[in-house]
Amino acid sequence: MKGILLIMSGFSGAGKGTLLKKLLKEYDDYAFSVSMTTRAPRPGEEDGKDYFFVTKKEFEDNIEKGGFYEYASYCDNYYGTPREYVDSCLNAGMSVILDIEVQGALQIKKKFPETVMVFVVPPSIAELRARLKGRGTESDEVIEKRIHRAKEEFEFIKEYEYIVVNDDLDEAAKTLNSIVTAEKHKNVNTNQTVKLIEDELKSV
Ligand code: ADP
Ligand code: 5GP
Repeated sequence: MKGILLIMSGFSGAGKGTLLKKLLKEYDDYAFSVSMTTRAPRPGEEDGKDYFFVTKKEFEDNIEKGGFYEYASYCDNYYGTPREYVDSCLNAGMSVILDIEVQGALQIKKKFPETVMVFVVPPSIAELRARLKGRGTESDEVIEKRIHRAKEEFEFIKEYEYIVVNDDLDEAAKTLNSIVTAEKHKNVNTNQTVKLIEDELKSV
């Protein structure tokens, strides 16, 4: 069965990264598309694992080379999806998860209409603020910028096929995995088996 391309968007602090890590730990047929960014690494983030951390010049060179499936500017930094890794994972039958913001998500959906789009929301904005503060990786000023950005992102929520409320983490991860499982079983994605049965039925 071939893998699917899944976009996970959501306000900063909603818990996308945390959910992703849980899925990657608990299931072995997922791959995370490592993005390229000009933002500085947070403590604990690894180059090549969380992001490819690059300079603005390196990012712009990659745009020139046509190396991105999509890219966008988010709160004063560039973020983009390198093509090669996504292609190699899909070819290997993995499901690829892209943790990207709404502008990039819409670019991918346009290029690959079969992409599954999931929007992760926190149980409330008060909880979102508490999570961002609790993460302790951004200044108060940047946190407010990101919450302000959430207001703009909310306008695009209707473009997404699924909403996952990340209240209880275990529940949210199970829901996300159920969505992927259901999508993999869509008629269009099971063509190989259906073809095989069709051939076999010819000799019955
Ligand atoms: P995002 O990737 O969406 O910006 P993170 O995954 O970094 O968000 O999560 C933001 C903060 O919220 C982190 O400190 C994380 O530990 C915490 N968090 C994530 N999911 C939950 C949850 N279900 N319940 C409580 N805290 C959570
Ligand atoms: P953060 O700085 O918190 O890691 O990410 C900020 C925002 O950038 C999040 O909404 C995240 O989903 C988004 N993002 C991360 N990588 C990419 C990417 O490759 N492309 C786009 N368009 N957005 C990305």
